[in-house]
Amino acid sequence: MPSLREKILPELILLEPGPERQRMLAYAIHGPRTRIAAFLLAVVATGLTVLCDKLIRSIPSTWSLLIIIFLFLIGFGMVMWYTRQDIRLRLRTQLAQTGIPICIPCGYNLTGNESGVCPECGTAIAK
Ligand SMILES: [Zn+2]
Repeated sequence: MPSLREKILPELILLEPGPERQRMLAYAIHGPRTRIAAFLLAVVATGLTVLCDKLIRSIPSTWSLLIIIFLFLIGFGMVMWYTRQDIRLRLRTQLAQTGIPICIPCGYNLTGNESGVCPECGTAIAK
């Protein structure tokens, strides 16, 4: 059964657990979008801190707390989705470079593919 990490990044299933997998994951995580995401999270957290102060003064406390939690989850989710796309793309690129047959744009496993075209997205596959 796949772990939570493998559910979030299904490309990891194609790699045996071990140092090579850890190295590829570390490389994928340290992409340019991760830095942007860290900045966006800081902006979201700062914005919510300012909002918290205004909400707590104007709306009864239970509602303001729920609104703050909701806004934080929406902001956090959007930043994580944005980052996940980049991490998956960087993982697929590394997998393809090490000879594991995978479609870089869509992540389809191309093991046994003879046509030279990804059946999922139609991308031509470099041999
Ligand atoms: Zn594809």
